Amino acid sequence: MKTYNILKKIVIALAIIAAVMLGILFVILQTEKNHSQPQETPIVETEDSIDEEIYTSEYVTRNYELNEVNGIPIIHSFIPFDSPRRPGEIRAIKYITIHETDNRSTSATAQGHSAYLISDYNDITAWHYTVDDHEIYHNLPDNEIAWNAGDDRVRDGGNINGIGIEMCVNLGVDFEKTVDNTAHLTAQLLRTYQLSLEDVKMHADFMDKICPHRLISEGRVEEFLDLVQTYYESEGQ
Ligand SMILES: [Zn+2]
Repeated sequence: MKTYNILKKIVIALAIIAAVMLGILFVILQTEKNHSQPQETPIVETEDSIDEEIYTSEYVTRNYELNEVNGIPIIHSFIPFDSPRRPGEIRAIKYITIHETDNRSTSATAQGHSAYLISDYNDITAWHYTVDDHEIYHNLPDNEIAWNAGDDRVRDGGNINGIGIEMCVNLGVDFEKTVDNTAHLTAQLLRTYQLSLEDVKMHADFMDKICPHRLISEGRVEEFLDLVQTYYESEGQ
């Protein structure tokens, strides 16, 4: 009877040891299994309003090659990557969006706006080109988003899909020459990105704001579009 009790205890002890070892083995196997699984690509949650091309396109900065239009130099001076004005998101280009700076200060030239965009880190607003009567500054690659149209992340909207161009209205600027330079630049961009005249938008097309203010308030939007069409058809063949 005594021997039987001892054997019984040994069997129970062995059973417990076996159970513990099986448990350890199970944990090891599970760990190995997890380690051997390939790392999954992080899934980016997209909303309906977000253009998927933003997330699927490779980062490629384009359009360095456009260094002048109609004899007006284009100076490439990109906003730094660590600026909130440069989200760095790649998107499809569907529009050219025309603005006016509404800044009458004599220093509010294309160069002045460029210097401001590059050095001021206090806002997210930015655009791609600033045009005055003698030069054009290019502050963001054309295929990167710039927050300039005031329509958030609307699908096919101005922010997500537009190239923003600001026309200077500073005191002392030749506004007619600025408009002409902008029409040449717009025509060139339409050709570069295989867009049509219908893809030239005013800022006011995307939000409730009278911009470009002079062109709209003076009733000259059609005149501007006609000028773009003329240059679109006559140049860069
Ligand atoms: Zn505007």
